[in-house]
Amino acid sequence: MALRSILTDKDPSLHKTCRPVTKFDQRLHDLLDDLKETLAEAGGAGLAAPQVGILRRVAIVVDGQEQMLELVNPEILQEDGEQDGFEGCLSVPDRWGKVKRPQHVVVRAQDRNGAFFQVEGEELVARCFCHELEHLDGIVFTDHTDQLYTSEELDEILAGEEEEAQGSRRRRRKERRGR
Ligand SMILES: [Zn+2]
Repeated sequence: MALRSILTDKDPSLHKTCRPVTKFDQRLHDLLDDLKETLAEAGGAGLAAPQVGILRRVAIVVDGQEQMLELVNPEILQEDGEQDGFEGCLSVPDRWGKVKRPQHVVVRAQDRNGAFFQVEGEELVARCFCHELEHLDGIVFTDHTDQLYTSEELDEILAGEEEEAQGSRRRRRKERRGR
């Protein structure tokens, strides 16, 4: 296993359509192992092969049990609902943007030996599936929004939203007491 360098979105690899995997060989296994090691080191929720310069349909997504799922030739079979939330990317350091995603997705993919399987994701995991699968088509989350924030700005926005939520809870409690 080896750490690979994560490219930024200035690199052309991040904007190209990846080719399907046809050989489930040692090279693929090495790529999957390297992606997992690189993701663990970087501490993100997912990583796609083009982010390390490999234009193949391969991605890793961290699921709800904190397990790293290996996805080869993944596709979204079904999506339901909608969520609006902040999203970041290891290839776009310290930038966050609001992106609408489905609340729930069903993904079909192959494992490292070529066997097909299906997996579901909700909320953040659904968001991550959508984000990583888009990388395989050369789409970066910044293609969905021009409004980008630094971590510091994001913290302020989230703190503000939290305060607002607490405020409306307080108002609701007062209203109930007033009745
Ligand atoms: Zn990304």
